[in-house]
Amino acid sequence: MSLIGKIHSYESFGTVDGPGIRFVIFAQGCSLRCQYCHNPDTWSLEDPKILISPEALLQEVLKYKVYFQKRGGVTFSGGEPLMQAEFVKEFFKLCKKENIHTALDTSGNFMNEKVKELLEYTDLVLLDIKTINPDLHPILTGVKLENSLRFLDYLQEIKKPTWIKHVVVPTITDKATDLKALSIYLKKYSIVEKVELLPYHSIGAYKYKELNKKYALDGIPDLSKEQLEEANKIFRNT
Ligand code: SF4
Repeated sequence: MSLIGKIHSYESFGTVDGPGIRFVIFAQGCSLRCQYCHNPDTWSLEDPKILISPEALLQEVLKYKVYFQKRGGVTFSGGEPLMQAEFVKEFFKLCKKENIHTALDTSGNFMNEKVKELLEYTDLVLLDIKTINPDLHPILTGVKLENSLRFLDYLQEIKKPTWIKHVVVPTITDKATDLKALSIYLKKYSIVEKVELLPYHSIGAYKYKELNKKYALDGIPDLSKEQLEEANKIFRNT
């Protein structure tokens, strides 16, 4: 019997999750609890909106293949796609047979044999490093920092092209010391092709109310354009 993936939703013309125009799949389920998460409705693995086989998901993607051109493809995001590593591997395997570029958007919180197999069919990893500060990481995400860094070590070992994503949250992850530490830390990884500093926004706050959950960052303003420029300056000039 074919595997069944638990999916939250799709986006047919994504332009921010990897190169070119991409079909983005948001997996259901995540083991992190990032304070700034704007998709708390993806956390639980229960009650996914979509249940689908790798073959049927490929058929969805093929409808848009013509738009991918040379640079685009599919991105598996979440939630956390590594929680369904076997399913994503089977799906990426089918994508590679169709010559479709595959990107995995992950926090890197898991590493096991299934994840290693999935990475064999992954062209690009978008690794979300929430903070390089080991004391702050558990407060911000609910899990320790080491797993993501070990994941990055493994990506280096297998020479997997990687982009780093990092959300800059006013008063939390915008400290010059932490941004500099991240910049210095990443210099030793030759696989890192790009680092994207992303501005925090509170766009998903209303979902917490709907889910009857407390939004931890209530009152923290969105990161302004100027603050993002400043963060980029600190990061790039280190
Ligand atoms: S890893 Fe992503 S989906 Fe999971 S809690 Fe953090 S921001 Fe939300």
